[in-house]
Amino acid sequence: MSKVLIFGHQNPDTDAIGAAIAFAQLQKAMDVDAEAVALGTPSEETQFALDHFQLTAPRVITAVKPETSDVMLVDHNEFQQSVSDIAEVNILSVVDHHRIANFETANPLYYRAEPVGCTSTIIYKMYREMEAEITKEIAGIMLSAIISDTLLFKSPTCTPEDVNAAEKLAEIAEVDLESYGLAMLKAGTNLSDKSAEGLLDLDAKSFPMADKTVRIAQVNTVDLKEVFDRQSELEAAMKAESEEKGYDLFLLIATDILNSNSELLVTGEPVAKVETAFNTTLTNNRALLPGVVSRKKQVVPQLTAAFNN
Ligand code: MN
Ligand code: MN
Repeated sequence: MSKVLIFGHQNPDTDAIGAAIAFAQLQKAMDVDAEAVALGTPSEETQFALDHFQLTAPRVITAVKPETSDVMLVDHNEFQQSVSDIAEVNILSVVDHHRIANFETANPLYYRAEPVGCTSTIIYKMYREMEAEITKEIAGIMLSAIISDTLLFKSPTCTPEDVNAAEKLAEIAEVDLESYGLAMLKAGTNLSDKSAEGLLDLDAKSFPMADKTVRIAQVNTVDLKEVFDRQSELEAAMKAESEEKGYDLFLLIATDILNSNSELLVTGEPVAKVETAFNTTLTNNRALLPGVVSRKKQVVPQLTAAFNN
């Protein structure tokens, strides 16, 4: 078999990068010539985790075909969120915890999907099933991914399996779960030095809904006011990006990681679908969403349902 590139989604979060690193290590243990790569540079949160466990950020790629024809996907499956030439290469394997949409292959493949809080939780289980050694560094980056995806277990996406995996991994990684977790999450909330465009691109995904393209960006913060002080600048950037990329509707979810609430900022149309989805009325293009922290579980399904009605 030729070289296999393993990567997570565009605008990689800590799970997209951590799961790629951990899964590549597991593949190497099975004598696969695997390399973890990424479809973007690490966020400050991810960089904090990489630094803490003395790992190097995966090389960034924009296309696969110049290098190889074989890939494995982690933490995503939707082609819109993957590498540009994904439709032209052979997907050998997918490990993911998202909805399955717009996914089709020419060949048979391994596909492992579980509705847990983090891809790295599934990969932890695979290490255990294969009785493969988990080094301190790999434990650390998988733990960081679980903390990131579950917001230190506060997200409704978090399952007992995620908590169990994190506890075991924290032991191997030799860190105190709570204090390390909060420090890592806080490292990702430094938004002041980011441009509006940079902030919108930190963790953004596109979703086809009915005949529209919906862009949903999320930022973590410990101070919602700090985000909305920049509302007009953010709205201008959301409109410009929608114009350029063809998004119909653009949502920014600012998530207060300490209080587990989010505030929504919306540009584009149809706004009525947003109001229906969250049973709210936008004021000044904004709405508070109490208890909402998960795009995957508390935003995308509700919005999809509103679009399909
Ligand atoms: Mn992810
Ligand atoms: Mn994930």
